Amino acid sequence: MSLSNLKKDRGRKGIEALAAEAAKMNKPGGSFDDDRFWRPSRDKSDNGFAVIRFLPAVEGEDIPWVRIFSHGFKGPKGQWYIENCPTTNSGKCPACERNTELWNSGIDANKDIARKRKRRLQYISNVYIVSDPKNPENEGKVFLYKYGMKIFTKLMDAMDPDFEDEDAINPFCFWEGADFKIKIRNVKGFVNYDKSEFAAASKFLDADEKALEALYEGQHKLQPFVDNSEFKEYKVLREHVESVLQDGDSPQSSAADEAAAEEDVQAEGHSPGPGSSPSSSPVTNDDDDSDSGSAEATVTVNSEDDGEPKSAHAYFEELADED
Ligand SMILES: [Zn+2]
Repeated sequence: MSLSNLKKDRGRKGIEALAAEAAKMNKPGGSFDDDRFWRPSRDKSDNGFAVIRFLPAVEGEDIPWVRIFSHGFKGPKGQWYIENCPTTNSGKCPACERNTELWNSGIDANKDIARKRKRRLQYISNVYIVSDPKNPENEGKVFLYKYGMKIFTKLMDAMDPDFEDEDAINPFCFWEGADFKIKIRNVKGFVNYDKSEFAAASKFLDADEKALEALYEGQHKLQPFVDNSEFKEYKVLREHVESVLQDGDSPQSSAADEAAAEEDVQAEGHSPGPGSSPSSSPVTNDDDDSDSGSAEATVTVNSEDDGEPKSAHAYFEELADED
């Protein structure tokens, strides 16, 4: 952006505006009740449709997305562990360490538990809502959008298509990008985003410079979501994971955990987790996790003590059902 824009910004986004933004970031419950986030709605049969446009990196940031690992699982006594995972920034994570122990035990029941508790990968980008039939008031506005591996893969495929008859596009580009059609279905009880696709490349908002500039200025910074302040200290996380697990498991596997693992397998129907690469641990091989793909939720996964919103629990239960 030009200097004149920067100067203009100075008036519009003064210290008060920055303070308000900072307050939003620190709000307990994270993005779940953060109205900067958008999520596609679904009907009773879990079908959903919306058209969005991914937006470029904001000024001062290089990449138009951030990626965040998080955990969301229940301990044997029903308590939740919902925390951002420090491995996002190459930190040490007590929940991942516990998973590695379980995985390395070689016991199938332990591996199932590790799958259930593994870190989940999510991305955040700025998007413009082109069409949201269930909530038309969102149309024409900029939001943050949290999504999973499946949609991220579609973004990557658009930039580097597999077949010669497909033209590479930069889906984040105002001038040469494309609208993205989100198509959600319920496939055998799993929320499925497979049918989602890009429309043909098109100029965004007819490349109207004024409209683009206004929109660009309304985008949100992404880096604050992966700032170290968003991740609790190792000691704090270890205390939390220990209190949730309450000695309820060990690498040798207790009877209670075996029962829980059986339940998990039945509930999920399938477990495409770490088992896809038997020799490695769940800590390092879950990047290609497909069942966290396309998460449509808007929760930032950092709870404040036991005060995480009920809806966050519902979100994580739902996440386990995504395919
Ligand atoms: Zn972790």
